[in-house]
Amino acid sequence: MEDHVEVTGTVFLLIGQHICWKCRSRQEVVALAAQELKLLDPIVEEEKSDKDLVILSEIEEMPQALASYIQDRHPRYAKRFSRTAELSYFANSCECGALLGDHYMHSEPGGAFFPESEEDAATIRIVVLPFEPPIYVKSSYHQGSVGSLILEHGTRFANTIG
Ligand SMILES: [Zn+2]
Repeated sequence: MEDHVEVTGTVFLLIGQHICWKCRSRQEVVALAAQELKLLDPIVEEEKSDKDLVILSEIEEMPQALASYIQDRHPRYAKRFSRTAELSYFANSCECGALLGDHYMHSEPGGAFFPESEEDAATIRIVVLPFEPPIYVKSSYHQGSVGSLILEHGTRFANTIG
């Protein structure tokens, strides 16, 4: 699903590992997630529990300050055109230049942000970003058991350097 989303709760940066499809090297990749959000247009209040984590993907728009904050630490996270998604969004790239598309990390079991076990989820680092809601983004999102697994078993760090 794709929509304009208003993040109304804590916003997180997820840091995971992904093997590049092109050069087969292991790369650090990032994704944004939120604990609460509202869908705009039409306005829908999502019913949520504290354990829900909504993972944002194929982010077409986000506040410049937020993008800059992430890019200062993960400079290869930048807007690029994806042939798979047929749109430009904030995507991870490999050191070799290959686009590491969100689809494979978010929507395929075993992907960097689609852990299949508690052990997989524990390898994901969770960082609370110092941005006050509401934060407006245009993106797709995934909610459900994967988000809960990451929130419960991911490893929490105080900042993105950790
Ligand atoms: Zn590569």
